[in-house]
Amino acid sequence: MPLLKLENVTKRFGGLVAVDSISLEVEEGEALGIVGPNGSGKTTLYNLISGVYYPDEGRIIFNGEDITKLPPHRRTPLGLARTFQIPRPFGSATVIENVAIGAMFGAGRDVDSALREADEMLELVGIDHLRDKEAKLLTPLEKRLMELARALAMKPKMLLLDEVMAGMNPSDINRILDLLDRIRKEEKVAVVSMVEHLMHAITRFAERVVVMHQGKKLIEGETYEVLSHPEVIEVYLGK
Ligand code: ADP
Repeated sequence: MPLLKLENVTKRFGGLVAVDSISLEVEEGEALGIVGPNGSGKTTLYNLISGVYYPDEGRIIFNGEDITKLPPHRRTPLGLARTFQIPRPFGSATVIENVAIGAMFGAGRDVDSALREADEMLELVGIDHLRDKEAKLLTPLEKRLMELARALAMKPKMLLLDEVMAGMNPSDINRILDLLDRIRKEEKVAVVSMVEHLMHAITRFAERVVVMHQGKKLIEGETYEVLSHPEVIEVYLGK
């Protein structure tokens, strides 16, 4: 049984079909890239999976449960975590406080156990030394790692990452990719990442990619194969 299953999911905004009868499956512990140029429907797809929008048509099944019309806060406890789903870092709050929020709201912990969980997650992502620093003072990489720690504190079965590598330099990207690998292998968390630009990192991250184009699934398959496919190159080069 796949962890996540979308069956012919469609979302319209007025006359525009932002997501057009998409079906896809994600397995436990899998690394899947959702690739597509700007406007291809990636964000809308994420919003449907996380419950920001409900589909006009189709069904979404997570871990065997129909979540098609479930509000976002009821999806998180089932194990579906999105990096930017809960509030952006509170400026004056510390790193540990930001991460503990994930454990409280996502995993329903009380304050003490949320703090313990948060400490563990900070250690896992390698920023435990920043525990008591104000979140607003973090570098972009540190902030990204904090967001990951917060999402992990929700004890997800699946992490939905919004462009997690955007704005990072190659060494930052490597660090994040190493971490995502570990999370998948050690915690068996499926990681779905959105990627706007075709880049080297996606070939290292994703075992499989789904390429979106004008709301439809253009092609899906093993990463290397798909990214060298003439149709995919055409979409990106805008022939
Ligand atoms: P991507 O994330 O791949 O850039 P989006 O899902 O943001 O693509 O957008 C897909 C299409 O849906 C675009 O044409 C966009 O303008 C449109 N769209 C997205 N959200 C809304 C909205 N809330 N209202 C109207 N149109 C929207």
